[in-house]
Amino acid sequence: MENEELQQWIEQVSLDHFGVPFTHEALFNRRLTTTGGRYMLKSHRIEINPHQLEVYGREEVEKIIKHELCHYHLHIRGRGYQHRDPEFKALLQKVGGSRFCQSLPGSKGRKPLPYRYKLVCKSCGTEYLRKRKVDPKRYRCGRCAGKLKMVDL
Ligand SMILES: [Zn+2]
Ligand SMILES: [Zn+2]
Repeated sequence: MENEELQQWIEQVSLDHFGVPFTHEALFNRRLTTTGGRYMLKSHRIEINPHQLEVYGREEVEKIIKHELCHYHLHIRGRGYQHRDPEFKALLQKVGGSRFCQSLPGSKGRKPLPYRYKLVCKSCGTEYLRKRKVDPKRYRCGRCAGKLKMVDL
């Protein structure tokens, strides 16, 4: 799909679901990696991640377009256009837009793992938090060089 087609698509969604025209520029941005789309406050431009179309198809991308159009129309009218604004939430629900500027699978950003284990020194009781299971025999206490044991949190 070319930018031109995307432009027409967004204009159509705007008319059909918001009842007002989208009069700015829309384009695909291949450099968007973690979000499905974004709305630019200064240029009023809407950018859509083309990978999103490949991965999720038209139906999902239309929801992203609706999401970005919510930002667009509210911002243009000087209303609450941010995710936390009640007006944004209400409009988004009304038109059936995606709840978030959706992430692509695998690009969700690496969430740090939670600590699930701890190594406890058998001599002095010092605790060392660990995210993954390790063999306690391979380590010694950093404080007293005592032997360690593994405990689930
Ligand atoms: Zn958004
Ligand atoms: Zn120790």
